Amino acid sequence: MSHCSSSKGKISGLNQHYEEKVRPCIDLVDSLRSLGVEKDLNLPAIAVIGDQSSGKSSVLEALSGVALPRGTGIVTRCPLVLKLKSTKSDSWQGVLSYTKKKENITKKLKDSSEIENAVLNAQIALAGKGEGISHEMITLEIESSDVPDLTLIDLPGIARVATGNQPIDIEKQIKSLIETYIKRQETISLVVVPANIDIATTEALQMAFKVDSSGQRTLGILTKPDLVDKGMEETVVRTVNNQVIPLNKGYMIVKCRGQQDINENLGLVKALEKERQFFNENSHYRSLLEDGKATIPLLAERLTKELVQHIMKTLPQLQKQLEMKLEKTSEDLKALGDGVPLDENEKTNFLIMKIRQFNDALEEVKRAEEDLKNSDTRVFSKIRWEFGKWKLALDSKSVKTEEILRDEVEEYVRTRRGKELPGFVNYKTFENIVRQHVEELEEPALKMLRDVKDIVHTCVDRIVNSHFNAFSHLLRAAKNPIEDFHDEQFQQAEEKIHSQFKMEKIVYSQDCLYSHQLNIVKQKPSTCFGLKASSVNADVREMAYHLTSYLKITCDRLANQIPLIVQYHILDQYVSQLQNAMLSMIGGDNPGMLLREDSGVASKRKELKERLERLKKGGKVLSKFVHSA
Ligand code: GDP
Ligand code: MG
Repeated sequence: MSHCSSSKGKISGLNQHYEEKVRPCIDLVDSLRSLGVEKDLNLPAIAVIGDQSSGKSSVLEALSGVALPRGTGIVTRCPLVLKLKSTKSDSWQGVLSYTKKKENITKKLKDSSEIENAVLNAQIALAGKGEGISHEMITLEIESSDVPDLTLIDLPGIARVATGNQPIDIEKQIKSLIETYIKRQETISLVVVPANIDIATTEALQMAFKVDSSGQRTLGILTKPDLVDKGMEETVVRTVNNQVIPLNKGYMIVKCRGQQDINENLGLVKALEKERQFFNENSHYRSLLEDGKATIPLLAERLTKELVQHIMKTLPQLQKQLEMKLEKTSEDLKALGDGVPLDENEKTNFLIMKIRQFNDALEEVKRAEEDLKNSDTRVFSKIRWEFGKWKLALDSKSVKTEEILRDEVEEYVRTRRGKELPGFVNYKTFENIVRQHVEELEEPALKMLRDVKDIVHTCVDRIVNSHFNAFSHLLRAAKNPIEDFHDEQFQQAEEKIHSQFKMEKIVYSQDCLYSHQLNIVKQKPSTCFGLKASSVNADVREMAYHLTSYLKITCDRLANQIPLIVQYHILDQYVSQLQNAMLSMIGGDNPGMLLREDSGVASKRKELKERLERLKKGGKVLSKFVHSA
């Protein structure tokens, strides 16, 4: 069979200006594609969607000159990416490829007659026998002088009801598959609709609207104009003229080979002649041909143009995505490191370097000097926040109004007075009330300790993972002391806080400090005393002054003391202990053992390196294009 396409003639017949603009664009996407950037980014492409038997394959076939599997039922069962590349040479080259269970399978094709079987076999390999579908794509690359420069994606047709051995949810499966392709900003959707049905009922058009409501990326294609009922032609013409369901990009109409044409072995070239003749001779449709809205060759030309425009439009976005991906890849690669040297001495050096880098990172956290990524917060800032909350808890204690304290004193005296006559409020009362208040502060102090512990733990865990991720033995060796020291230091801090609160039971302050505070309290104009002053027992009032003064002094002391304890153990001691333990690893175990990489790591590194190369080259190609455009 001759695989002839009309569009070749059209493209080469276009004016110089167009040729200058089209080629570089198509070449750009082509070279990105041949670099394999497609694995990392979605490149501009055209997807063909439509209900079953709407004529998708026929349109693709006519556009590409490539005979695809046809038949009834779901014939296209995997996405088929048809990469057409127009060449000057006379040779025909076809390669079919797909990936199954991470294995790349490629098959060279000698000529176009091998396509149909190769595609069918690939579909069976991916989607099994029967009528199930698969999301895995099949790629068919064809280089020939007879094809236009286009990449088209054939998708399974939308089936309304499951039949025979199809899965019951076949419609849902197909729709979700179609959606993944047409919702990409990089995809132009060709919605194929038979002209002989009511266009408003087509599922495909509704799907396209759903993902592209403004219709920027959707082009309608009417097929089977020869099958339109008499009297309905004007509706078809109005549809193509965008007057029925308007699309931003509008519609085109084509006539492909019908079943009879195929039975009669009508070649694709002949079919194009017949198509032109059909539109020319039909009084209703002739105007559409004159407006450039009908026939396969004009569609091919339009598509190339659309693709070029689309490429130009999505270019900045593509460039940005590429840059982001590049950055992420080099970060991932950096985290993985360069790999372990083979020489034993160098291995030790390598281990020293890894440990030094890790210890440096810890040191930075300890000194609150760590580098931050985007919106992250320094560990010490988080700790300071916890310290602040602790201060607030203390404040709510020390700013207790004198009135409340006075009530407490009165209550205390009322319930526990001994044999003394009223008015003799003694020092014991003072001590007891003080102790009661201070005791209440222990739990908030311990909570603060736990919160800070969690903050530091999370941070150290992240650092250890990021440094030793590639070496599971080293990671495990580091994680043990991390947990041990953490518990150890936590316990010590807890013990100290306990002791502190035990010590606080000794009510003490330097005389001069205490007198000073008492003076301040007494001089402060007090609202509550003013009101009920006359009714308040002078001793009780005096006692309230003392309590206020002493609680203020105690709270000030604890405001500094508890954070000091927490910081000393949970940050300083813990980090130093961990750093020392890491250093001692250098002399100890066999470094080769600690540095043994997980099996996946080497291949992951290789993959990342390849991607990095690819993206770098892709970036160069892109920026070169942008600058010359
Ligand atoms: P798909 O399921 O969407 O891929 O549809 P096909 O391309 O397999 O087409 C379904 C049937 O419609 C086939 O028998 C085609 O020959 C026929 N067909 C496609 N386009 C036309 C057309 O323009 N005119 C006529 N008469 N038949 C067509
Ligand atoms: Mg089909």
